[in-house]
Amino acid sequence: MKISFTLIILSLLGTNLLAQDAEKIHFKSIVVDTHGDILYNQIQSGIDIGKLQATGNFDLPRAKKGGLDVQVFSIWCDEKGGFNMANRQIDSLYSLINRYPDRIQLVTNASQLTNAVKQQKLAALIGVEGGHMIENDLGKLEALAKRGMIYLTLTWNNSTPWASSAAQESKGEVAMPGLSDFGKSVVRKLNELGVLVDLSHVGEQTFYDAIQLSSKPVLVSHSCVYGINPVPRNLKDAQIKAVGKNGGVISINFYSGFLDPTFSAKQQNFLIKHKPELKELTDKYGRSKAIDTLIALHKEEADESRPKIERIIDHIDYVVKLIGVDHVGIGADFDGAESFPQGMDSVADYPKITAALLKRGYSDADVQKIMGGNFVRLLRENKGL
Ligand SMILES: [Zn+2]
Repeated sequence: MKISFTLIILSLLGTNLLAQDAEKIHFKSIVVDTHGDILYNQIQSGIDIGKLQATGNFDLPRAKKGGLDVQVFSIWCDEKGGFNMANRQIDSLYSLINRYPDRIQLVTNASQLTNAVKQQKLAALIGVEGGHMIENDLGKLEALAKRGMIYLTLTWNNSTPWASSAAQESKGEVAMPGLSDFGKSVVRKLNELGVLVDLSHVGEQTFYDAIQLSSKPVLVSHSCVYGINPVPRNLKDAQIKAVGKNGGVISINFYSGFLDPTFSAKQQNFLIKHKPELKELTDKYGRSKAIDTLIALHKEEADESRPKIERIIDHIDYVVKLIGVDHVGIGADFDGAESFPQGMDSVADYPKITAALLKRGYSDADVQKIMGGNFVRLLRENKGL
């Protein structure tokens, strides 16, 4: 009786020490998220993300709370938008930075990044998600790079005339999959400027054309593992190995639908069950906001279909086992997807990832690489400083 009581106390102490360790390691790491979609929302709704928000996944107070040091802000629009829309979003990031210069700073290379982190400011970087925003014009690509673009995702779900997307290539909708001659000149130009080639969203042929051509290590800014969940946006083993060989980094996406092979069916069932309500909401708000609202209205029920945080670690682990710990990072896709694992509600929840990695047996040094060190190395290798 006495022994078991002592054991309980010891194990409680152990858990507590582990939690303290996790906190300490988390807040001394440079924590990087290579993909967040808040700017598009900011433009649409006019919210001030310098202040704590009741909705969405990102704002400066929650970034601080979560120990997030570096955010790559995604510049995103669908195929109807282009260069102007990209610039509007960059304007909105600039204006956020102008309003809160003591809390957030634009950075375009690794030296600036580490300086901003030392000053305890959020280092803000710009990633352009979709080659359609350069409007088939290398001059526009250079203009975006001048404004701070550190990566270009060659395609979003829509293909461009010069690069096929995973969404379209996998359905056989592209006549000539891969990179065209102009597409190859885009990759060469990105290498020349030190802008990272981002291979999330691209079709397999585009992926291999680009990675073979790139003279610099590439980024896959927000993707998961096909071997765990076979959806076209996820990376197959051979692709993961190619990134390892190239010296690049794969940032794992937190979207439940990419992480968990059972999520999609569970979500379908949930939507079917609430069909009349969903229809009413869709008429009012449009499909995407209607789904968000429905989830909020039936929170407990919707939560049951969300995977556990450990699912994220499974994807990280898979990549580490294939190509080592130097090639994996975090690209949550916050504000860009409607469901994340249980407990991952915003950027304030990043310490939970560090704790889960430690629990899985990762060392302090490995955790620091995964949480951001690998990305900083990649940025330095592309920029040269
Ligand atoms: Zn995306």
